[in-house]
Amino acid sequence: MRMQSEDLDSLYQEIVLDHYKSPRNQGLIQDPDMNAEGFNPFCGDKVVLTAGIGEGGQINEVGFTGEGCAISQSSASMLSEAIKGLDLEEAKGLIARFRGMMQGDDLSEEDEESLGDLVVLQGVRQYPIRIKCALLAWSTLQDAIANLASKN
Ligand code: ZN
Repeated sequence: MRMQSEDLDSLYQEIVLDHYKSPRNQGLIQDPDMNAEGFNPFCGDKVVLTAGIGEGGQINEVGFTGEGCAISQSSASMLSEAIKGLDLEEAKGLIARFRGMMQGDDLSEEDEESLGDLVVLQGVRQYPIRIKCALLAWSTLQDAIANLASKN
């Protein structure tokens, strides 16, 4: 990936680059409790997400594969870390907060705290076409949760 300007530097902030270069939770898990695939035709990004749910109803295992731009893949990697330990309601809450942030909502201190590192993806808002890239993994998670609900 080439850095051509200061704007790009700020877009691909350090944390984003780190997740892009060393994605967390790479690889699909066996017999996942939930899974979904997402595709962003505007950029060609793809994310396949799998997750396992523990006895207590919390997401205890997450794995993803994907290809595409740095924003889409780092966002997926960050998501895979952020949702571990959440139950499905909490995961839905996080999706809503993340989506809200990307769509320009003002974040309360509480929101920022719950979003953690994900807050860096706010920088993407300056590049409207990239918002879909950042949201891809999150819509995929939403689909995975919806698929699960329709299975039960
Ligand atoms: Zn993209």
